[in-house]
Amino acid sequence: MKNKMFKKIASVAAISTMLLVAGCNSKDQDLKVTKAKSEERPIVIQGPMPIEAEYFADKLKNVKIEKSGTFVFYKGTLNDYPVIVTKTGKGMENAAAVTALTIEKFNPIAIINQGTSGGHDPSLNVFDIVLGKRTTNIGSLKTTNMDENQGTDPTTWIPMDLMASEGSGSDESANKVRHYEGDKDLLAAANAVKDTYTKGKVVEGTIGSADFWNSEVDRIKWIHEIYGTSVEEMEGASVAQIADAYDIPFLGIRILSNNKTNGGTYDPGTASANQEYVYEVVKEYIKMVKK
Ligand code: SAH
Repeated sequence: MKNKMFKKIASVAAISTMLLVAGCNSKDQDLKVTKAKSEERPIVIQGPMPIEAEYFADKLKNVKIEKSGTFVFYKGTLNDYPVIVTKTGKGMENAAAVTALTIEKFNPIAIINQGTSGGHDPSLNVFDIVLGKRTTNIGSLKTTNMDENQGTDPTTWIPMDLMASEGSGSDESANKVRHYEGDKDLLAAANAVKDTYTKGKVVEGTIGSADFWNSEVDRIKWIHEIYGTSVEEMEGASVAQIADAYDIPFLGIRILSNNKTNGGTYDPGTASANQEYVYEVVKEYIKMVKK
């Protein structure tokens, strides 16, 4: 057994030496360039559905596809800087899991979560874009106390901040909304290229997330009042929470594909329009990073 193990270690050592020698044969310049590149931390762009990720992935150069579970990573470059587009799947669980995995695997310099959303603000139209100055979980709630046959009244439910304490039950300090702030530099990059987007307006706002598609206008109004949401979707807050846990800069960028509050019907063409804009944002951010 011991002998076998020693042989294995010896052969690994031999292969390593061979690789080292081979490496020394290439030009010094090439080595330096490769080393500098490998030290650059990638920018990660997440999209839940194929229509929200593949358009951007097609714009990358030198793409290598890596899969883990149901998650797909398109690892490539944009203006010679490493960028990873990730197809995350829909919903909060996928978003959280893939974000933790992404951080552990690739140590990104920043994460942008982007895609479609439903409007909560009647002044926003389909094709308008919301930059998530704040992102919040709109599905984390405590109900009031009601006994049998007293019914259910979602308008009395209380926002619950799961990160407020490590305690349980009747912890009053948890009876509040938690917001995650969008990263200042990512926001600056997004604002700097606002004018390149011509299909609607680009505004700063609050992105609300939950595994929920709300089409009751009065419920949308209630969420809008309690949380100050501009739009709803199903991933952003989950990504923001995990990015915050690891101190990775994060920004949500969401286009309205529908807005029940002003009759805006669903348009899937918004998914690629958003990626076109996010592409400009990423180019701008790369310029900032390289400075
Ligand atoms: N296929 C299901 C579920 C769609 S999930 C259906 O057709 O009903 C919708 C995806 O688009 C999620 O990834 C979410 O982030 C986003 N989305 C767009 N508009 C939304 C809205 N009004 N409410 C919630 N999520 C929305």
